[in-house]
Amino acid sequence: MTSTNLKLIGEDLEDRAVKTRNCPTHGDYEAMFSVAENRWSGCQACLKLERDKAERDEAMARRVAIQQERSGIPEKYRAATFANFSPTRKNKVGEDERIESLDSKLKKAKRYSQYVNEGNHRGSNLILVGLSGTGKTHIAMAIAHEAIKNRKTVKYVTAEDIMLSIRATYSNKSNKTELEAIHDFASPDLLIIDEIDKLKNPETHDANNELKQVFTIVNKRYSNEKPIVLIGNVPTEQLRNRLGEPTWERLKERSNKLVFTESSYRVQFENLDLEAQ
Ligand SMILES: [Zn+2]
Repeated sequence: MTSTNLKLIGEDLEDRAVKTRNCPTHGDYEAMFSVAENRWSGCQACLKLERDKAERDEAMARRVAIQQERSGIPEKYRAATFANFSPTRKNKVGEDERIESLDSKLKKAKRYSQYVNEGNHRGSNLILVGLSGTGKTHIAMAIAHEAIKNRKTVKYVTAEDIMLSIRATYSNKSNKTELEAIHDFASPDLLIIDEIDKLKNPETHDANNELKQVFTIVNKRYSNEKPIVLIGNVPTEQLRNRLGEPTWERLKERSNKLVFTESSYRVQFENLDLEAQ
């Protein structure tokens, strides 16, 4: 008996094996009955779409994992996304209370992220300052993850990492030149510099050349319109002190700033329109 002999329209219990069914997307198709699974097969075109999507998702997950590894994003922030950023704080009686200003910062950060992903950021930086534990790094990492998903190259470093990488090239044993070290930080599509506050005050510390090279990095990125996300647990005036005037001035020229405090924040200068929908 061939399948054509079995072809019946209807649901006769004994002989059903092949029948024409309809997929709302792909139209009529021949469905087969599987006795083992006790069900009719679905639309082959839909199944192929599902399989292709699963393959694409898998490839994307692999690519994202590799890029995350290369980006230097710390392990504890690998899962930080906009979706799991909680714009709430505990109130006096220990309940979670939604904080409007955090909500608003979240929205602005998402908007900034969009600018980065769509490539129309015009080299604008995002400066996240405020006390530690207010969610600055989480927000920055969410921006990083979105950028990686959108095929951007991302590098996360602490300010100290940059100084040390540059200093390391002064050694005879270094396998990198100073220029190559600078290139590592100047070339990614998005550079995230954390812990600016941990930089030693240049006035009391002999790091003039390294600071000059930080300026070179910032300036190269400025010239190539590549954005920087800067994170610091200090007031803005101290960022200026730690980074030195020329670097700060360069950064500030094209920056958006979000100040994280427990209950309030303010945007002091805004280079991109972060309010747009
Ligand atoms: Zn279909």
